[in-house]
Amino acid sequence: MSASQGRPPSVGRYCWHVTDFPEPAPLDAHGPARIVALCNQKGGVGKTTTSVNLAAALAEYGRTVLLVDFDPQGAASAGLGVQSNDLETTVYDLLMKSGPDAPKTKDVILQTRVPGLDLLPANIDLSAAEVQLVNEVARESALARALRQVEDDYDVILVDCQPSLGLLTVNGLVAAHGVLIPLAAEFFAMRGVALLVDTITKVQDRLNPRLTIDAIIPTMFDGRTLHSHEVVDRVREGFGDRVTETMIHRTVKFPDATVAAEPITSYAPTHAGAKAYRELARELIARGVFA
Ligand code: ADP
Ligand code: MG
Repeated sequence: MSASQGRPPSVGRYCWHVTDFPEPAPLDAHGPARIVALCNQKGGVGKTTTSVNLAAALAEYGRTVLLVDFDPQGAASAGLGVQSNDLETTVYDLLMKSGPDAPKTKDVILQTRVPGLDLLPANIDLSAAEVQLVNEVARESALARALRQVEDDYDVILVDCQPSLGLLTVNGLVAAHGVLIPLAAEFFAMRGVALLVDTITKVQDRLNPRLTIDAIIPTMFDGRTLHSHEVVDRVREGFGDRVTETMIHRTVKFPDATVAAEPITSYAPTHAGAKAYRELARELIARGVFA
């Protein structure tokens, strides 16, 4: 394992990135959305934290954003202050119901306290969809069908996938234009990435040729440990430019913000963690992942 060759050393806890990504220009017109799935079959790598906070940061930059909670745990809903277990209709109903009685996607979407950020909520009902969808026609494109109704209303749709490579995640990949992979800078981070890339390639080949891996985002980075640096070096060696310059550092402010049911961008707007997600939003706009 090599040290960070060819790049500035990461001194201190929060400086590493090389580029100052520009403040994004406001959009003249809104939509249609680019749909991006956040996927990693490993749990606890920062998918939900990245979904919620990247969504909030993009909304701060004037983008109209829909966050799709696509995990039966409902963590993204909870993170935005929505008690989803009390809800009558969720994304589950959009997947499973068809015909004249089917709910409209826009009627299931909720506004959040973050201006410009809407939520398509999920709760434990969604865990049944994995089994029930198996017998449906076009079972892999149920989410894509539901999102088609509202695609034109947003600039960005983020799908917070559950930690598995099952049928729900495949639905996320079929609905998406691109994939963002949060990768924790920890032991075994790379374990499973080959399988994830394999699944993405299969979906590309068989179901969704437009799908691309947009970026890999290092999360849970701890600048004080050599180990974190080594993991990120290896990830950069393996994936090159696809790894974002922006890294999300490990800080207790993220779980704190989750408890407060708010994005860190509003819970602690000047904290380095909030700045990191704004920087990630700017980088992804500069890379053309989002307009
Ligand atoms: P996933 O959705 O991949 O399962 P989460 O985003 O829910 O992962 O994160 C798992 C846990 O780690 C949560 O308690 C979250 O608050 C915490 N967490 C996420 N990102 C960070 C971070 N950068 N630093 C510290 N804790 C984090
Ligand atoms: Mg999650």
